[in-house]
Amino acid sequence: MQKNTPFNLNDVKRWAEDYPTPFYVYDEAGIRACVEGVKKAFAWNPGFREHFAVKAFPNPSILRLLKSLGCGADCASIPEIVMAGCSGIEGNHIVFSSNETSLDEYRVAVEAGAIINIDDLTQVEQLEKAVGYIPEAVCCRYNPGEWGTTNEFIGNLYDSKFGMPEDQLFEALRQLKEKGAKRFGVHAMLASCCLSNDYYPMLAEELFALTIKIRDELGITLDFIDLAGGVGIPYRPKEKPVDIAAIGEGVHEAYDRILKANGIELDIYTEMGRYITGPYGYLVTEVIGKKHIYKEYIGVDATASCLMRPAIYGSYHHITVLGKENEPAAGIFDVVGSLCENNDKFAVDRELPAVELGDYIAIHDAGAHGHSMGYTYNAKLRPAEFMLCENGELKMIRRAQTMNDYFATLDCDAEFMEARNR
Ligand SMILES: *Cc1c(COP(=O)(O)O)cnc(C)c1O
Repeated sequence: MQKNTPFNLNDVKRWAEDYPTPFYVYDEAGIRACVEGVKKAFAWNPGFREHFAVKAFPNPSILRLLKSLGCGADCASIPEIVMAGCSGIEGNHIVFSSNETSLDEYRVAVEAGAIINIDDLTQVEQLEKAVGYIPEAVCCRYNPGEWGTTNEFIGNLYDSKFGMPEDQLFEALRQLKEKGAKRFGVHAMLASCCLSNDYYPMLAEELFALTIKIRDELGITLDFIDLAGGVGIPYRPKEKPVDIAAIGEGVHEAYDRILKANGIELDIYTEMGRYITGPYGYLVTEVIGKKHIYKEYIGVDATASCLMRPAIYGSYHHITVLGKENEPAAGIFDVVGSLCENNDKFAVDRELPAVELGDYIAIHDAGAHGHSMGYTYNAKLRPAEFMLCENGELKMIRRAQTMNDYFATLDCDAEFMEARNR
């Protein structure tokens, strides 16, 4: 089965004349259409906002694009808050969903006007200690431990470090109210890469029921519910994408049935990362080796340091050999990078057409948690990122890391480095 690319071999050959592989290419039109689909699915909720999870794709060019489409940002570190700010996303359009948070992080987040999503009851005191008061708008992160009878979406929530159980959540809200908070939300993320159209609706149902209980027991009427992220994308060609319209409608139905029927109206927030940009990013790399030992290997100039999901999770990422889209499989290969580390494999036992040195390969679905998870093991430098704009122009949105960038934080022989740079 086939997955398409928004560029072809000739495009990549042209780009590679100016920019060495490996590099990332993102499809602006795809991202735009995806956000429009999300907005349409939740248009029934006037206060709806998607706060894009910055960790999925930390790049001001993408955050500016998302801001222009009405999105906010979900941040979890000071640099992420700064990046949102320099992209024009400010104030309560930032949700600060951190955990194990330092006092400095609370200070910067509150100064930025972000909505603080408190991960734990003990953090109420920490937040107050950090800034001297409790901000007006706050959110608490919920971890139900057990969730209904279903376990299809989630791992074991008792093993999850995130959020707090119901009794602690109630106590946190009570304390926050007493300390002067005026607007309240509840947040929960109970899935990752979930392809079920039922996940958000079922989570919404759980959180809406909790909303009623919070009003009845604490006299607090929530202002928003944050469904967070976790909506999946089909990494494998045979998987079906979610139906975002059906998801929005499912949440709408639960909203009317549980909240509206009880006289509550509130804003729905999401913090999707993967769903918004994941399918619209490609890692482009050149074949630089072929090796025939106990297995057949195809060596490429990208490594797991560019895209680590296959190495750490064994994740499937589809591979297209550009220009050979319609050629039959010629064998079973491992597609590997050059790290001195045997998990540096983009694909294991993958059927591919006959590949030659100099062929270009596109690794699909690398638009979220791709470049951002990268690292510099073996002193491999980080690759450039490009936006393939709607007008067909290729725009650099992050230059490749240079040797000087890499050495900048080290104590090196200055004369040697200077001579080397000459
Ligand atoms: C990672 C994360 C997200 C985004 O998750 P996706 O799976 O990319 O949708 C949203 N919210 C929080 C708090 C996260 O940690």
